[in-house]
Amino acid sequence: MIAKWLLMALLLAVAYGLWRSKQRAAQRAAQTPRPAGPTLTPPQTMLRCTHCGLHLPQSEAIFAHGHAYCSSAHAQQGAQPPQTTPAQASEPE
Ligand SMILES: [Zn+2]
Repeated sequence: MIAKWLLMALLLAVAYGLWRSKQRAAQRAAQTPRPAGPTLTPPQTMLRCTHCGLHLPQSEAIFAHGHAYCSSAHAQQGAQPPQTTPAQASEPE
């Protein structure tokens, strides 16, 4: 007879424990703010260096003579393509 009551008490204790843990989990989920996730930066316009053809974000580009360049050196050199050595230019096939 006592064993039956003990079993009932044990079941109640287990049920109460489960209910408490569920309540705590729900409370924690409600309290913790949702992670905003990785901060996404808006897409940037990519520009091509007029001198060397490198693609770079508009914010990092240097503008000169109405063109975009990857560096001040390329802005100074202008739109000429990078110099090729004569050996490379006249490479026999
Ligand atoms: Zn460049």
